[in-house]
Amino acid sequence: MGLLHQIKQYFHNMIFTVKSLSHDSSRPTRAYFDAMLEPLYWFIDKFTRYIGLLMVIMVIILTTSVVVFWYKFLLPTISTYSQFWFWYHCIVSHYLLINVVFHYFKAVSTSAGVPPQHLPMEDIKGAVVCKHCVQPKPPRTHHCSICDSCFLKMDHHCPWMNNCIGHFNHRYFVSFCIFMWFGTVYVSSSSFDLFTYHFGHPGVFLDPKKLSKILLLSLGFGDVLEQLFKQMNIHSKFFQKEFQKQVDAYRPHPGRFSDAEIDEWEHIGIIYLFLLTIAVTVALGMLNCYHLWLVSRGETSIEVHINKTERRKAAQRGMGYNNPYNHGRKNNFRFLFGLNGKRGIMSVLLPSSHLPDGDGLSWPNNKKPVHYPDPKAYERYEEAQKRNLFRKICPC
Ligand SMILES: [Zn+2]
Ligand SMILES: [Zn+2]
Repeated sequence: MGLLHQIKQYFHNMIFTVKSLSHDSSRPTRAYFDAMLEPLYWFIDKFTRYIGLLMVIMVIILTTSVVVFWYKFLLPTISTYSQFWFWYHCIVSHYLLINVVFHYFKAVSTSAGVPPQHLPMEDIKGAVVCKHCVQPKPPRTHHCSICDSCFLKMDHHCPWMNNCIGHFNHRYFVSFCIFMWFGTVYVSSSSFDLFTYHFGHPGVFLDPKKLSKILLLSLGFGDVLEQLFKQMNIHSKFFQKEFQKQVDAYRPHPGRFSDAEIDEWEHIGIIYLFLLTIAVTVALGMLNCYHLWLVSRGETSIEVHINKTERRKAAQRGMGYNNPYNHGRKNNFRFLFGLNGKRGIMSVLLPSSHLPDGDGLSWPNNKKPVHYPDPKAYERYEEAQKRNLFRKICPC
């Protein structure tokens, strides 16, 4: 208890010293932290565009490798299934692949939309001037420091697409993430049986040649290991006999192929395929939840922070805050996918190049007052302040 109290006191003193040294009534303390992070911002602004190009190449290489491995290692096993399951796998896999490729290509190649450069300010309702471009900035438009340009309804700069996501490519981005997620769920679930077979196969971890290949591929130590095995006399007749016994006793291949019929790269290929797709399933699943949650609230990744600040400021005054672009969950999704009655759900389920509704310069308002009296707002604000760990520890 004494030690904890001492740590708390040291922390308190440290914060107090920093605050008193940096105190300037005209600036918030955050400005100093921002200044300290300036070199990091500079690095991100300068190099993200080049890193983005590498990341696009990486997405293409990884996706291609999954497709090639599916044809090479999964399809032979799928061919042994019943007619129904064979066609199910062929149709589902190709449907997802076509959608993934189409939406990725469109998201990468379509601009989010740049505001018109020479339109008078008065012609764009609610526009302000961008301090970087010195051009009119319509509502929901933000400046991307990586692209060094303003984009309509900017959501975020996506390094995986090396492009800004905004009004004209937001649908492609969301559709790509959803189809890619279903694609990785499909590949990881359909390769699970083969993965358990290969992962537990004695040939993977006991056969020095195959193990060498895995290590050669992943760490570059294959040759060293081969030499080590030679020294340990692991190629001896006794070891080979024991090894063969284990292979013979192992469960049959899901495609009923004999050991001689299985491609020697299949062990590594299937393990790689499953591990890669399951990792993407988890990571992309979390990202999708976040983006779909934002869409359901009629917010972009930037607006979620702006609205949070607005909500807190309003609550401080005992008022509630209403996001003017939130038209209800169902309508928000309709706006994003461009389902305005003229188009049906097929334009979302199949590749479609239709443009989003509106020009991205003006946005329909939900007609509700932005600020409204909320008797519980201040109470919630105080509760949130109490929960703030930093303020709890540091009373200064
Ligand atoms: Zn700008
Ligand atoms: Zn950008």
